[in-house]
Amino acid sequence: MSDCIFCKIASREMPSTIVDESEKLITIKDINPQAPTHLLIIPKEHFPTILECTDKTLLGDMLTTANRLAEEQGFAQKGFRTVINTNEEGGQIVRHLHMPLLAGRPLSGKMG
Ligand code: AMP
Ligand code: ZN
Repeated sequence: MSDCIFCKIASREMPSTIVDESEKLITIKDINPQAPTHLLIIPKEHFPTILECTDKTLLGDMLTTANRLAEEQGFAQKGFRTVINTNEEGGQIVRHLHMPLLAGRPLSGKMG
């Protein structure tokens, strides 16, 4: 997808602050953080939403990555939130599957 910002971030065409990378995923800092930690776990392959995601192991990989980053960054025990916003009423703005990972303050209300 040539006009997709997360595809461009994954291919390094667009700059971002990368905090983790694996074969299928890249994790970056959100440009407009809603919590002290606000990361975006993004598949390198373009799926517009979770509904089109045909790689089911990818979804497990995303959650496993969130768990690992929570442990590595030291907020696992205090707590964190993972969400996947889907389509308009789900609050999805960027049409490339991604999982926000938020931590560092009590989280109620804004869902990512
Ligand atoms: P969503 O509402 O789930 O589609 O969330 C999209 C998120 O992507 C928002 O929290 C934005 O702040 C974030 N975002 C948009 N563009 C960028 C970018 N270039 N680098 C990092 N985060 C971005
Ligand atoms: Zn994309």
